[in-house]
Amino acid sequence: MAKNPPERFMPKPVRLRFAPSPTGLLHLGGLRTAFYNYVYARQQGGQFILRIEDTDRKRYVEGAVENLVNSLKIMGIDYDEGPMKGGPHAPYFQSERLEIYRSHVAQLVEMGAAYPCFCSAERIDEVRQQQQAAKENFRYDGHCRDLDPHEAQDRIDAGEPHVIRLKMPRQGSFVCVDELRGRVEIDATLIDDQVLMKSDGFPTYHLACMTDDHIMGVTHVLRGEEWLPSTPKHVFIYERFGWEQPTWIHLPLLLSKDGGKLSKRHGDFSVEHFLGKGYMKEALINFVALLGWHPSSDQELYTVDQVVREFSFSRLNKAGAVFDLTKLDWMNGHYLRTLPLEEVAGQAERFFKAAGLPIDDHAKYLKVVDTSRNRVAFLEQITEHAALYWGDTALSLEEAATLRQDVSRYILQFFSDQLESRAEWSREWIAEIVQAGIDKLGVKGKHYYTPLRLALLGVQHGPDIPTIIDNLGVETTLQRLRSALALA
Ligand code: GLU
Repeated sequence: MAKNPPERFMPKPVRLRFAPSPTGLLHLGGLRTAFYNYVYARQQGGQFILRIEDTDRKRYVEGAVENLVNSLKIMGIDYDEGPMKGGPHAPYFQSERLEIYRSHVAQLVEMGAAYPCFCSAERIDEVRQQQQAAKENFRYDGHCRDLDPHEAQDRIDAGEPHVIRLKMPRQGSFVCVDELRGRVEIDATLIDDQVLMKSDGFPTYHLACMTDDHIMGVTHVLRGEEWLPSTPKHVFIYERFGWEQPTWIHLPLLLSKDGGKLSKRHGDFSVEHFLGKGYMKEALINFVALLGWHPSSDQELYTVDQVVREFSFSRLNKAGAVFDLTKLDWMNGHYLRTLPLEEVAGQAERFFKAAGLPIDDHAKYLKVVDTSRNRVAFLEQITEHAALYWGDTALSLEEAATLRQDVSRYILQFFSDQLESRAEWSREWIAEIVQAGIDKLGVKGKHYYTPLRLALLGVQHGPDIPTIIDNLGVETTLQRLRSALALA
């Protein structure tokens, strides 16, 4: 009988987290980070945690947590532990875990890996200016590094404002291993004595995040590349506590098309913004899935399940991921055309309502959405096309003149006679009339279709004639043909 393997050989279940700071709306970069974490946890049968890193009270934005949670929900990224849901390590808001950070920073001070610093903001500014003048990067000059611990304690007891800094070794170099970049070595002289605890008693990211990642059993830290330079400090914290390090993976930066770092200046990249314009969630997920991850084939359309099956760290890029809106539009167009019509129509409703277009004739509404969804990149644009099927056509003088030409009049008259001759029209029958008109009048191509489209839809280019008539319905079609003929 096969025995269970001894426990130490059992693979540890993976635990990943998305740890946003509630400083604004969830943007596509954050969505990508959340999604990769989620995907890897799902693929490995592990857990995915949402933790809100809200210890920077100055950058806190009211409503940001709700936006984050809601956006993730809409995008289908559900977490196993986190706000509203709870879990074994609750609370998942860092602002409710301050005692944990205080006790951990005290331990670091106790073991000589951190120290209180009483330097005033003015003094730090002076140091900064001096270093700037000498063209050096800012680094705390170590003024309080070697204070006598008893003296420091007396000053703390006397209520003197202070921060707690990490006491980074000043010589040698630090090595951390990043899953994508391999061994990264950074010279100790380049690393600052990071503030871990601020004078207001709130921890900085470096302390709070590492403490929580450890306590919450996070096995893989999958985060943005902007954190790579801080990783030696994080490794140092892990080492001083004697904790087992997680696997570090730093995702490539998002770049604008001109190669620069993507920033607010380039536009609004919030998930809310894209959903608001009528981008489908399937397209947004597909788009972020490929922002930095390149699958082995050149397939570009992915469902979440396919990404879960195929994702691997080894296919993450190190180079920045270019954010190409044209590609997103292309993907969205694909999903608009291929998702079930009822679903697209459901999402298009609010745009119709906002544009004052009727949706009460459901059959007509569906037909118009079906025709128009082929012609737009995102749903906000749909009403521009859809509006052509209601109300009157608005023709320019030049267009009206086109309808007055003899040939136009013959075509319109022919159509009008044919359509009036029957009470019930099928698309097939209309297609036959279209052909019959060509045969009878000896006109074809744009000379034939332009007057028809202008009369029926008020535009020169558009869907085929049977589709236009089918969407308009009998009454509107006849009425538009009559108005066009009246112009003649
Ligand atoms: N709170 C950090 C941020 O929003 C999280 C970074 C991380 O994933 O560790 O940038």
